[in-house]
Amino acid sequence: MPETDPSSWLGQRVEPGQGASLSLTISESYAGDHITVPMHVWRGRDEGPVVAITAAVHGDEINGTGAIRHIIREQPLEITAGTLVLVPVVNILGFERHTRYLPDRRDLNRSFPGTKEGSLASRMASGFFRKVIKRCDYCIDLHTAAVRRTNFPNVRADMRDERLAAFARAFGAELIVAGVGPKGSLRNAACKAGCATLILEAGEVWKVEPTVVEYAVRGIRNCLRFLGMTPGEPEEPAYRIETDATKWVRAHHGGFLEFHVAPGDIVESDEPIATNADLVGQEQNIIRAPRDGIVLGMTTMPSVAPGDPVCHIAFPRAATLRRAEIAVDALRDHSLHERVRADLARSIRVTQESP
Ligand SMILES: [Zn+2]
Repeated sequence: MPETDPSSWLGQRVEPGQGASLSLTISESYAGDHITVPMHVWRGRDEGPVVAITAAVHGDEINGTGAIRHIIREQPLEITAGTLVLVPVVNILGFERHTRYLPDRRDLNRSFPGTKEGSLASRMASGFFRKVIKRCDYCIDLHTAAVRRTNFPNVRADMRDERLAAFARAFGAELIVAGVGPKGSLRNAACKAGCATLILEAGEVWKVEPTVVEYAVRGIRNCLRFLGMTPGEPEEPAYRIETDATKWVRAHHGGFLEFHVAPGDIVESDEPIATNADLVGQEQNIIRAPRDGIVLGMTTMPSVAPGDPVCHIAFPRAATLRRAEIAVDALRDHSLHERVRADLARSIRVTQESP
């Protein structure tokens, strides 16, 4: 049974107005030692919702770990109501090995809600789900792109659920990709259990990127403001794109790419995304945008084989995209949107298409 006393977390007392670091025993190592997930529970003085912020469900996606550590250590938020449950690393076994997966090669983020009698992944998922997620009203689960890719920050949530849609909009991300998430993912299972969960996809694996951390912390603060857990009003994004239409544009030939766009760029139909050439520069073909859209994510690896993903593009309605374009043109270089765009573009070499 999940604990129901709001002052009792993993058998420890956390009174209103207090914070406590706790650990959840989630498995045992090959040597027979306990494996624990460290957490920090922070309660406001007033009653309010219970919100989990989770990271590294994929053990190599540690940008969110950086964001949560920043919140725990620097306390940029004042929690006046409700309970904030901060979990810097959910997949502690993957994290220990710098990998997405568990030692049994399963994906923890396809194993929720899990079972007590199942595989290692299923048992770990079940322990975390029962002890933490089932007690939460909301969850923000922080992810990055998979290895060798990067993502412009985008929120993903089931926008048909009104409660979740309002929470997702409050985050203040310019880009929201609508959907329920894969079966077995934390967000899919949590939503089914009544915990309204969104994910943030931002940046790369194996890094804590400063502007991505800033973006995540701003979004978390906005969501907590929306719920009345911290003072102030959520900040509005410069533009808002919500769509469920996205597509990975793939390489048709093997070769070495020169990129002509970067994450967050708005692209027109037929615009060159990358030039694919052989190693001595002989052009094979130009990869083009299939429609007008915005670059959600990209490969950071210039060498490709046929079928390799190159660029993940979202396709909002034409009018929405035009409004976004006008809003971006009006943004100053020091805005977080432009700084995160500039930072992510540093992982790739972007050139003009050769005439
Ligand atoms: Zn992930």
